[in-house]
Amino acid sequence: MDQKRRSIWVFGDYRNYFQNRVTLQLLSRATDLAKKIEAEVCATVFGHEVDEWVGEYIAHGATKVYVCDNPGLKFYSTDTYVALMERIVRQYGPEIILVGATSFGREFTPRLAKRLKTGLTADCVGLEINGEGLLVQTAPAFGGSLLTRIVTPEKRPQMATVRPGVFQEIPHNYQATGEIVNVALPGDLPGDRVRLVSSERQPAREQKLGEAPVVVCGGRGMGSKTRFKNLFELARVLGGEVGATRPVVYAKWADEDALVGQADRHISPKVLFSFGVSGAIQHTAGIKNAGFIIAVNKNPNAAMMKMADVAIVADASQVCIALIRELKKRIRT
Ligand SMILES: Cc1cc2nc3c(=O)[nH]c(=O)nc-3n(C[C@H](O)[C@H](O)[C@H](O)COP(=O)(O)OP(=O)(O)OC[C@H]3O[C@@H](n4cnc5c(N)ncnc54)[C@H](O)[C@@H]3O)c2cc1C
Repeated sequence: MDQKRRSIWVFGDYRNYFQNRVTLQLLSRATDLAKKIEAEVCATVFGHEVDEWVGEYIAHGATKVYVCDNPGLKFYSTDTYVALMERIVRQYGPEIILVGATSFGREFTPRLAKRLKTGLTADCVGLEINGEGLLVQTAPAFGGSLLTRIVTPEKRPQMATVRPGVFQEIPHNYQATGEIVNVALPGDLPGDRVRLVSSERQPAREQKLGEAPVVVCGGRGMGSKTRFKNLFELARVLGGEVGATRPVVYAKWADEDALVGQADRHISPKVLFSFGVSGAIQHTAGIKNAGFIIAVNKNPNAAMMKMADVAIVADASQVCIALIRELKKRIRT
C-alpha cells in the first residue's frame, strides 16, 4: 500500500439526483470525521465523461478524487465496479469507506467488504469517531427496535453504508480545489456476468410537472401519507400535477420526480396550490415562476404564506378535502 496519509473515502454514486445527494451528505459527514483523525476526505468517481461530478465532489469537501474515466464504465456494473474499487483500495489503503445505502450501494458494498475481508455496517443512521479514533457506526437492529453501535477494531478499511437524509450536505464551494488522481481501468478485470442489452431513462415526470398549468404542492404539514394522497385527488380534479417538498419525498409520501426546489426542480404553473409547506429557500427557488399562489398553512407567518397571493390559515388536509368536495359538486352541476 503506497498511501501516505490517512483517508476517508466516499464512493461517488451520481446516477441520479437522489443518489448524488447521499454522496454529498456523506462527503459532509466525512469532512467532520476527518478532522478528528487528521485524515483527508477523498471521493471515487467511476464512469465516462465524469468531470462534472469530480468538480461537484471537490466543491462539497473532497480534497482528493480518484477518477477512472473510461467508456467501459459508462453504465454501472456491480462486478466491474467492485473489482476496480478493490484494486484501488488495496493500492491506497483508506481508513474508512462510506457508501450511500441506495439499491446500488447495498449491492456493491457487501461484495467489496467481502473481498477486502473486512466488516461492514449496513444502513447506518449515525457515524462518530470514538476516543480511540475508531469509527462508531450506529445502525438499527432487530427490525429497527434497537440501535446498535458497532466498531471495527482490527480490520481495515472500516466500512459503512448510510441511509439517505441522515446527514446534511454542506453548501457548494466552487472556489475549493482538490487533487485528481487518474486511475487507469485495468485490462485484466474479471468479465461482467451481466450483459447490458439496453438502457433508457424512465420518462421523467418532472417534464410533465414542469409544464403543468396547475400544480398542487404538498409539504410535511399534510401530516401523513394517507392525508397526502388527497392531494393527488385534488390534482386530478383540477387537471394538474402533484409537487412535493424534500421531507415529503424522503418520507416516501410522493415519488422523487415530484420534488420541487433548487437544482433544476423548477415549475411554472399558472396556479400553484401549496399545502403545509413552510417555504424554505431551497423549495421556493423552484417556484419563482409560478403565477397565482394559494397557500394553506396553520402558521400565518410561514414564509410560504408571505409569498402567496391568497394565504389561508387552516389545517391543510381539511382544506384539501373540502376543496375536492366542492369542486366535484361543481363538476356534477
Ligand atoms: C442542501 C439542501 C437542499 C435542499 N433542497 C430542497 C429542495 O429542492 N426542495 C425542498 O422542498 N426542500 C429542500 N431542502 C429542504 C428545505 O430546506 C426544507 O427543509 C423543506 O423544504 C421543508 O419542507 P416542508 O415545508 O414540507 O416542511 P417543514 O419545514 O417542516 O414545514 C411544514 C409546514 O407545515 C405547516 N403545518 C404543520 N402542520 C400543519 C397543518 N396541520 N396544516 C397546515 N399547515 C401545517 C407548518 O407550519 C410548516 O410551515 C433542502 C435542504 C438542503 C439543506
